[in-house]
Amino acid sequence: MKQVVFVCFILMLFAGCKIDAKKQQELHIVCSTSIIRDCVQEIVGDACEVKTLMGPGIDPHSYNPRPSDVSLLNDATVVIYNGLHLEGKMAQLFHQLGERKTVFCVADGISKRSLIYTDPSSGAIDPHIWFDTESWLQGLEQVTEDLCKAYPQYRTKFEANFKRFSEETKQLTVQLKTEMQAVPRQQRVLITSHDAFHYFSRCFDIEVSALQGISTTQEPGVQDVVNLVNFIVSRRVKALFVEHSVSPKAINTVMESCQRKGHNVRVGGTLYSDALGDQQSKGNTYLNMLRHNVHTIIKGLN
Ligand SMILES: [Zn+2]
Repeated sequence: MKQVVFVCFILMLFAGCKIDAKKQQELHIVCSTSIIRDCVQEIVGDACEVKTLMGPGIDPHSYNPRPSDVSLLNDATVVIYNGLHLEGKMAQLFHQLGERKTVFCVADGISKRSLIYTDPSSGAIDPHIWFDTESWLQGLEQVTEDLCKAYPQYRTKFEANFKRFSEETKQLTVQLKTEMQAVPRQQRVLITSHDAFHYFSRCFDIEVSALQGISTTQEPGVQDVVNLVNFIVSRRVKALFVEHSVSPKAINTVMESCQRKGHNVRVGGTLYSDALGDQQSKGNTYLNMLRHNVHTIIKGLN
């Protein structure tokens, strides 16, 4: 049934996606995720209000398009998505949309050697690229350049905005890296439900382990639970972390198994992984999300 709905969605989208030359000159940007939306809004500033398909707290791996997404995408003159299969079943749609609209993929701007390969045999790449700020800025710089080429009237503004945002991000990264070092190396272990933090691990120098694979659609097996519980108990890990856009069920199962083995581990807090939080939350922007995650981890592990 879901497959039929998805095919109907594509047909509706492509029936109405022709944009005349005059409309193409207007700037209407739609991004796939809330994280990309926030960063692109920083780049374009007051040139337009950037919209998103997946709002705060929405898991992109399992996202099913809504009927309202058709009009959002039809009205867009630029569509920006993450890529590397983060957007699950939407990936093919973005690819096809690129034949009819201006579509940018953030991952395309990141050098291949910066990407983390999760399975060398299949060539699968970890899509959670925003968690290494250096790689992410590389992708955003390419998006800025692509936007400037498509809308040269905004070049000065976009380049200045990107420069400011890039400097702010680099400064925050240095500060958060320093703060993370306050957690003793042996204790610096981040356990989450899905494996979204390998780029975060590289950026902020913390060991990571997770129950599920790089997608929330991969169900953990019994052996995965046993292996993770053994790891937590042997390393005397103090806290596990739940994710804002993922059910806490799997992490609670691991926690209970650890407790049955006599190791009292607790939930150290909630992290933002694949989506921002709402406007009132501490994860309401990309930079606030990074700040919140690092501070929650430090507090939970100390
Ligand atoms: Zn994810």
